[in-house]
Amino acid sequence: MSELLLLVESKEGLLDKTTLELIRGGSELAKDLGIDAAAVVVGNETSPLAESVASYGLKKIYKLEHPLLKGFQPEAWAGALEWLARQITPRIFLISHSFVGKEVAPRLAYRLDTELTTDCLNLRIDPQDGLLIRTKPIYGGNAIAALKCAGLPQMVTVRKNAFEPMEKVTTKSDLVDMVPALDESIIKVKSLKTVKEDVVELDKANMVIAGGRGIVAKEDFEMLAALAQAMSKSQGKVMIGCSRPVVDKSWMSSDRQIGLTGSIIAPDTYIAIGISGAIQHLVGMIRSKKIIAINTDPGCNMFKVADVGVVEDYKALIPALVKKLEESA
Ligand SMILES: Cc1cc2nc3c(=O)[nH]c(=O)nc-3n(C[C@H](O)[C@H](O)[C@H](O)COP(=O)(O)OP(=O)(O)OC[C@H]3O[C@@H](n4cnc5c(N)ncnc54)[C@H](O)[C@@H]3O)c2cc1C
Repeated sequence: MSELLLLVESKEGLLDKTTLELIRGGSELAKDLGIDAAAVVVGNETSPLAESVASYGLKKIYKLEHPLLKGFQPEAWAGALEWLARQITPRIFLISHSFVGKEVAPRLAYRLDTELTTDCLNLRIDPQDGLLIRTKPIYGGNAIAALKCAGLPQMVTVRKNAFEPMEKVTTKSDLVDMVPALDESIIKVKSLKTVKEDVVELDKANMVIAGGRGIVAKEDFEMLAALAQAMSKSQGKVMIGCSRPVVDKSWMSSDRQIGLTGSIIAPDTYIAIGISGAIQHLVGMIRSKKIIAINTDPGCNMFKVADVGVVEDYKALIPALVKKLEESA
């Protein structure tokens, strides 16, 4: 029982950023426990993905390969991972709280007869007993719980952006070929179709400009859009986000909400306009590299975390800022 294991995920054949986040978090936990961190790649042809994950400092990459693992079949993946877990008996098993993770992790925990904690925001090791302390929102996000379970492997799913993505290192992981024992009868899904949804992925933006309840009219978000357009010439990808009251008013879709019950993001620059800085909002953007706040209230909480704070009415400031940016372009 010596390894921490994490599940590798890909999107359109490329290594998904959530895997790099799991590697960062997992490597730190493994270091605290003095054990190795390893990853598992599942599929019918795992070499390209295994190669791409081999440069991030993990000790081993298990290539769990079988013809029945082509595409994503939750039952087959759970069966193969159960087989692997019984061979190598990992101490901790980390899975992203993604579509794949939500399908696979509960099935796997049931098969391995262990407890699963889903949607964790943070993980650490209890130095007393070496168990995983799992931090997650409960009661619809009204409270944060720190949980400990005794079952093995210690299994969790981890929310996107809970950790910084891992950077490449010079050493390479060992690749280990594994062929799980799988039977065709395990496959329950008869046909599988991938539907591409038009989702807003705020975590892909270099800069996020977010509006809050201080924005008094829906049309005023056009000012934020004009600012985003002007900023994009120098800042790369700029996207519009918001606080929860804006979503509650149906002015924006929920995928633009930042915070505890929205997205957790860490862009290069975050501009908060008319957002007071409630804790439920701060947890979603506090890891932004630079925080700029525009607010009429000099005592607002957002100024306490901002690198730059401007006490001003957005209706006066934003058009002037856009004009200045356009003149200097
Ligand atoms: C379980 C739970 C989960 C939650 N999850 C989230 C979440 O994920 N994300 C989230 O954002 N919230 C969340 N909330 C809500 C959160 O508690 C706050 O109510 C919310 O973040 C406040 O949004 P706001 O800052 O836009 O509004 P307010 O707190 O009302 O702040 C508006 C700000 O606008 C400023 N302002 C007003 N006029 C102007 C102007 N003309 N120019 C510039 N500034 C102006 C004001 O000074 C004020 O600071 C959650 C709450 C609960 C209970």
